Amino acid sequence: MTNILILGAGYTGIAAAIRAATRTRRHGGKVTLVSASPRFTERLRLHQTAAGERLRDHAIADIIAGTGIDLVLGRVSALDPERHEVTVNGEGADTRRVIAYDKLIYALGTVADASTPGVAEHAYVYDDHDQAVRLARRLSELDRGTVVVAGGGLTGVESATELAEAHPGLRVVLLSRGRPGSMMGEKARAYVERAMDRLGIQVRDGAEVTKVLPDAVELAGGELIPSDATLWTAGTKGLPLATEAGLTVDGRGRIVVDAALRSVSHPDVYAVGDAAAVRQPYGVMHGTCQGGIPTGLHAADALADGLRGRTVKAFRFGYVHQPLSLGRRDAVIQFTHPDDTPRRAYLKGRWAIVYKETVSGSPMPTYRLLKHGLVPVGLFRLTAGLK
Ligand SMILES: Cc1cc2nc3c(=O)[nH]c(=O)nc-3n(C[C@H](O)[C@H](O)[C@H](O)COP(=O)(O)OP(=O)(O)OC[C@H]3O[C@@H](n4cnc5c(N)ncnc54)[C@H](O)[C@@H]3O)c2cc1C
Repeated sequence: MTNILILGAGYTGIAAAIRAATRTRRHGGKVTLVSASPRFTERLRLHQTAAGERLRDHAIADIIAGTGIDLVLGRVSALDPERHEVTVNGEGADTRRVIAYDKLIYALGTVADASTPGVAEHAYVYDDHDQAVRLARRLSELDRGTVVVAGGGLTGVESATELAEAHPGLRVVLLSRGRPGSMMGEKARAYVERAMDRLGIQVRDGAEVTKVLPDAVELAGGELIPSDATLWTAGTKGLPLATEAGLTVDGRGRIVVDAALRSVSHPDVYAVGDAAAVRQPYGVMHGTCQGGIPTGLHAADALADGLRGRTVKAFRFGYVHQPLSLGRRDAVIQFTHPDDTPRRAYLKGRWAIVYKETVSGSPMPTYRLLKHGLVPVGLFRLTAGLK
């Protein structure tokens, strides 16, 4: 029997767990999945939660039902890769337990990089579902006032547009170092700018936030922007857990992996999703669900192949799109080259809304297919198509 332990039941951890269970079942694999919550967090939709939308509940036990995976509820507090042990703290007192493993898949995602002063104390972040709910509550208390969204990446733009649409009485300010959505092509970006303009969002590019205060955001040069609620989307980092465990991490605390997605310092530990620094010919992948689920599947396959004495393949991945919602009534999809640079093609308006919704809703049908040993064609193309 090989004990396979998977840490984190987000998008990639669940994909890895189901795939590992189906692929190793007949070869002595026993899969245990550790989840901080009984409920699945749709991180892709946290901006909708922050805007006050009540999303459908997905219980993790239901998602993995019938796979034979053991679900352990609790927070991972320590990892000892030398002894092959993980410490998990459950809800109540005396619920600390140590779980031994033969192979580990680390899928704990990332948290907001709170190194800017005041972020940890005064900003709302997207670290988990509860934090997005806290922001929704705060906004529901405000009739008027200002919401500052710090960070002009795709998450910042999705958040600013979602909040502006849901709370037309509030002033929404988007602070960005460069032009918001700068990774998109010119036409898609111009479309984003028109959407933000229509929603009354005040965009400040070239803005460097130096401090978050309880009621304001300070910019380099000392200017203060009053804020009744500040949402921080300007950067993420790996949990301290990996560094504390002695795993080799990159400058952002993500576990550095080899071509098969094994930790370069501890090969019995695979790292996937946002938590991993995965190098490809075009550079290190950035955190997306689009790339994360393929890493989860690949790690599970590599592990299964290893158990059966087969050659483990190198992971290859190419991006296809940057899907961006602009509130519930608009969206834009930038199609990309495998290295995530924009192609000429983009989609806007109604068809983009349908596309984005299909992408955001795709993990659940993907998990159902995986339970039957199938990999959705789209995911297969993202990886195998590149080889
Ligand atoms: C608002 C928003 C919109 C996004 N939109 C898109 C998009 O359109 N397309 C796209 O591809 N990507 C998008 N992303 C990025 C995408 O959500 C992430 O890349 C994806 O969630 C990564 O999956 P993961 O499994 O690595 O991490 P996560 O989904 O974050 O899962 C990590 C899991 O680990 C759990 N965990 C953390 N610490 C512990 C602990 N100590 N013990 C136990 N469990 C723990 C967490 O609770 C979580 O369940 C978006 C992100 C945000 C915030």
